[in-house]
Amino acid sequence: MTPTPADLAGAVLTIDLVALKDNWRRLNTLAGKAECGAAVKGNGYGLGIEPVAKALWEAGCRSFFVARPKEGEELRKLLPHATIYILDGLFAGQAEFYAKLNLCPALISIEEAQEWAAFGRVYGRKLPCAIHVDTGINRLGFSMAEFDSLLADRFTMRELNVTLLMSHLACADDPPHPLNQRQHDAFAAVRAKLPGVAASLANSSGVFLGDGFTHDLVRPGIALYGGNPTLNVANPMLPVAILEGAVMQLRNVAAGDTVGYGATWTATRPTRIAILGAGYKDGVPRALSSREPHGPAQVFINCHRCPVIGRISMDMMGVDITDLPDGSVKRGTRAEMLGRHIGIDEAASWAGTISYELLTRLGSRYARLYTGLESDRPA
Ligand SMILES: *Cc1c(COP(=O)(O)O)cnc(C)c1O
Repeated sequence: MTPTPADLAGAVLTIDLVALKDNWRRLNTLAGKAECGAAVKGNGYGLGIEPVAKALWEAGCRSFFVARPKEGEELRKLLPHATIYILDGLFAGQAEFYAKLNLCPALISIEEAQEWAAFGRVYGRKLPCAIHVDTGINRLGFSMAEFDSLLADRFTMRELNVTLLMSHLACADDPPHPLNQRQHDAFAAVRAKLPGVAASLANSSGVFLGDGFTHDLVRPGIALYGGNPTLNVANPMLPVAILEGAVMQLRNVAAGDTVGYGATWTATRPTRIAILGAGYKDGVPRALSSREPHGPAQVFINCHRCPVIGRISMDMMGVDITDLPDGSVKRGTRAEMLGRHIGIDEAASWAGTISYELLTRLGSRYARLYTGLESDRPA
């Protein structure tokens, strides 16, 4: 029989596009009257821009946010009719590239605004753009003073077709943080200076801050992909990425034996071990390596959580299955490293990082399976 990719890869990443679409619909409902867009930068947060973008379009999403013009080019091929914003702004000398692909830059400085306006003059048409004002994160965007200067620059303003005013929250995942209200109020002041233009402030967590933060368009990213947008509250989103490794070998070690590189883990009892075909090349963070007999990191096998033991290698990792029923784990049994039982936020916290980094650093070697794209269904 011809083997499937999953038969040959050792590790399998399943991306549940039904869950992705469901997450978008939930956020769309929460956003109320505001339009729900999607942040799909970084190859759809590592999950694959093509299936992710198509699934979101099928769910009803029409406005997409990427970081780089190169990402915009790729997305334009997939979604000819979508509105595509480039969050990193207008790259120097690249206005024609944006215009030809109908990419909308989120302008971040006077220099960019003047370049876009000047290009529009030559092109013979006022081209759409967003204006990104920094209201307190101090990352990208016009400062409040620079925004005032832009408004005062009548020559430039006349040539711009501003379709969106946007800003970005620094602490939306921490609702009581005082910066949220400060940014909200600063954004209200920005909007008052350019009335009648659609506005967007909320990322995933911002959608959960309530009506005052959703404005006309929301830009969720991580929540679409199953990350928890609400700190210290049960995750309202469905898991989308499921990473599993297949058991390659089972072995018994005696108390006092060590497991893995550096002999960092020592058995304190006779221990049954499963070696899984998933390692840091596959995106399992090496920081999940255990230092203690029952270090924090776990995988899920046959309805049980089992501790990770020893160091994560490039291609494999060990787990303690001593407490599982005899014979229940076999060669080829799959163990979940990330997914429905081991949440991406939980695994990320064990590794000392965040779900965003886990997803965008997933490897490239495992078999990737996508479930639930309508356009793939037989007619
Ligand atoms: C990445 C990004 C988003 C999406 O953020 P999440 O926290 O993933 O929801 C929204 N807006 C901007 C400007 C971004 O850079």
